[in-house]
Amino acid sequence: MENEPTTLQEAIVYFSHPANCRNYIVVRRWPDGVVCPRCGSQNVRFSERHNRWQCGSHHPRRQFTVKTGTIFEDSPLGLDKWLLAMWQVVNCKNGVSSYEIHRAIKVTQKTAWFMDHRIRLALHMGSLEKLSGQVEVDETFIGGKARNMHIAQRKRRITGTGGKDKATVVGFVERGGKVQTVVVENRKKKTLQEEVKKRVEAGAALYTDELLSYEGLEGQYAHQVINHALSYVEGAVHTNTMENFWSLLKRGLHGTYVSVEPFHLFRYLDEQAFRYNERKLTDAERFSIAVKGIVGKRVTFDELTGKQSSEVCPN
Ligand SMILES: [Zn+2]
Repeated sequence: MENEPTTLQEAIVYFSHPANCRNYIVVRRWPDGVVCPRCGSQNVRFSERHNRWQCGSHHPRRQFTVKTGTIFEDSPLGLDKWLLAMWQVVNCKNGVSSYEIHRAIKVTQKTAWFMDHRIRLALHMGSLEKLSGQVEVDETFIGGKARNMHIAQRKRRITGTGGKDKATVVGFVERGGKVQTVVVENRKKKTLQEEVKKRVEAGAALYTDELLSYEGLEGQYAHQVINHALSYVEGAVHTNTMENFWSLLKRGLHGTYVSVEPFHLFRYLDEQAFRYNERKLTDAERFSIAVKGIVGKRVTFDELTGKQSSEVCPN
């Protein structure tokens, strides 16, 4: 689209006009023309004065706005604030903390925290294509004292399988392609091999560390194991790409973000994976994809915070 912003500075100016915010979303959400989100009818009428549409069919809740049925629904905040926060989350390499959003767009920190999590929801890309070619698989622990420590380091320093305060994350990356991550209950053979089979095309070249849980995958994959005790790189046999992703993640977790609750971890992982997977795009293209993800994903504050938890805003 013409005149659409390509930099943060342009975005600030562009999204300060409510009509620009609305149009930016409309052309992505309804490329073939606006339809009623409740009944799908194209018979809708727009009122500029009320900044909303009315559906011509007779059913309850006939009026809707561009926010209806998106992550922005029920939020009293203007789209200018939402879109600017989103621009920053999507385009800052290590992410931005809710504290930075709070300061940048002048909302309370609690609101900023909630926005941040809704935005992450938009970045979750749903069904994933299987990885192929050369695929690296690696695990890391996040949380507690040994947070973010690489598995090989951990083995040397800590015995046992890690405390309950640590989440185990498995990452899969296709060299030159995309990354996928998953928080797992344990590192048992059954758990890890199911994830491998779900995410990696049979016949792919698989590179993992020497964890016994990966034994037996040779039937379906060209599996090669890295021996960290000997060396980190033996030709193509390494997990450096995955380790680079972990270090990006750790930089975000240690630097920008104050803490990550296990409950929210997968959303943070989605955010980091989104930026990694769309790294070859321009800021404007990456932002456009993120905005297309706002539809059909809603979350309430209770769902976000977990009703069992009394702690509301960890960061
Ligand atoms: Zn309708």
